[in-house]
Amino acid sequence: MGNKVIINGGKTIVKVRNINIGGDNPPVFIAGPCSVESREQILKAAVTLKEIGVDILRGGVFKPRTSPHDFQGLGIQGLEYLKEAGEAAGLPIITELMDEKHLKIVAEYVDIIQIGSRNMYNYSLLKAVGRLNMPILLKRGMSATINEWIQAIEYITLNGNENIILCERGIRSFDNYTRNTLDLAAVPIMHKETGLPIIVDPSHGTGIKELVKPMSKAALACGANGLMIEVHPNPKQALCDGDQSLTFTEYREIREEI
Ligand code: PEP
Ligand code: MN
Repeated sequence: MGNKVIINGGKTIVKVRNINIGGDNPPVFIAGPCSVESREQILKAAVTLKEIGVDILRGGVFKPRTSPHDFQGLGIQGLEYLKEAGEAAGLPIITELMDEKHLKIVAEYVDIIQIGSRNMYNYSLLKAVGRLNMPILLKRGMSATINEWIQAIEYITLNGNENIILCERGIRSFDNYTRNTLDLAAVPIMHKETGLPIIVDPSHGTGIKELVKPMSKAALACGANGLMIEVHPNPKQALCDGDQSLTFTEYREIREEI
């Protein structure tokens, strides 16, 4: 079992357009709604977040919802809206890929492909993105050990793609006060074990909007290379993850304090 994968001598820098992620580069700020809900919503988010100082726009279009009755995302139409919004604001974009059948179009539209927590164990999907030559954001499985996460990375690297950004997004624990337990020790651990850049998602990591700011600061204090935070023009009306989503004003506060 190869439990240690040191890539590029432990100093991987992932390039997304003119942004360098990892190493001694400044932290990268990824933000946007959980889901793309409409053209207006994502355009508004893109333009406002750009003005606040975000580097990369996020927005889910294929949503891995626990309940099949919940909003599943706008699919390809959402991808079109996300691309238009990114272009309007001059921001690179990231979205989650759930199914290999959408790989080609997602790779064509976005700057970074996100592999979500639920798909960290989807080895055929990992192999497929491993055959691409573009940045992949690999989230930690919600019950994944460090070693399982490292082996998921290897499914990508062994197929040729070393443009990997890791994302700690919290793991399941006995405590359900928070949605997940944000494992910040994973940040220095993964730096040491892989040399890959790692960002933190305090939104899914806690599920509570009030915790996003303190956990963002803690993440950067322990060396995270960036933050991915859910921000919505109107969190109370969000179709997904409204409780953990920040308003623009709340996000601006974090961005300015950091
Ligand atoms: C997301 O970032 O939109 C998401 C679904 O996160 P996770 O895969 O970490 O649950
Ligand atoms: Mn979400």
